[in-house]
Amino acid sequence: MTVTKEEQEVECQAQIAGQNHLLSARGLCKTFRDEAVLDDVDFDIDAGEVVVIIGRSGSGKSTLLRAVAGLTEPEAGDVCLNGRLVRRNGERTPEWEQGASQVGMIFQSYTLWPHMDVMSNLTLAPRKVLNMGRAEARERAITALGEVGMGSYCDAQVSQLSGGQRQRVAIARALMMRPKLLLCDEITSALDPPVAAEVLGVLTRLKDEEGLAIALVTHDMAFAAKAADRVMFFSHGKVKVNATPKEAFEQCEVEELRQFVDAVR
Ligand code: ADP
Ligand code: MG
Repeated sequence: MTVTKEEQEVECQAQIAGQNHLLSARGLCKTFRDEAVLDDVDFDIDAGEVVVIIGRSGSGKSTLLRAVAGLTEPEAGDVCLNGRLVRRNGERTPEWEQGASQVGMIFQSYTLWPHMDVMSNLTLAPRKVLNMGRAEARERAITALGEVGMGSYCDAQVSQLSGGQRQRVAIARALMMRPKLLLCDEITSALDPPVAAEVLGVLTRLKDEEGLAIALVTHDMAFAAKAADRVMFFSHGKVKVNATPKEAFEQCEVEELRQFVDAVR
């Protein structure tokens, strides 16, 4: 029996879920050295939602974000992004480029080019990748830097910025591509608590003012409790808890999560 393209699409769960969500991933699997680092993971995020991902080191949090961003190729799984089926049975679809361009990712260690000024860090990729003109790229950069409170640092050298300032510039650089979803992997782990709070404050402002969806891996339980719409607890490549912060932190019956929260507090 031949299955028509339409029938195939209807049976794709990620696509069905993607009609309600900005991002829907279904059945993501990734194995490293015979270990299931992502073990049949489902992950949804809505426009303007902040999802905080917590879990022990090595539980698969970074791999999940990297698989969504396409920095790692999952062996299985479907992903639907803003209505486009971008991955099916682990493979990128022809819609991949269009969908993935709406996702930005930021990492713990500074990934800016230290020998360049802030403006060049922001404009280089759009000019090369999108062939954007110099004036338009500069204009976008000024807006993006303004959004992260770094408007007066256009001409500063990256090497002269503090850690918190660099992470704000890294956020601005991700904003250059006008993403709908920002994936943040322990972006404040190297920062002192007050500076970390400032950087996280930038993210909540972007959510509130721009409607950006944010998936954030952090050990900052205070931020998770205060700013998350949803908390996902990861363990051995599986989502063990997916709940509101109140449910996750105050009402949760999952002993493993309680132990984890006690350990990081
Ligand atoms: P987390 O971010 O929760 O600390 P990761 O997703 O980084 O966890 O890693 C989960 C597991 O996958 C770890 O055991 C790690 O060693 C392994 N792993 C991650 N990336 C790779 C890789 N590129 N090659 C081999 N093993 C990897
Ligand atoms: Mg990690």
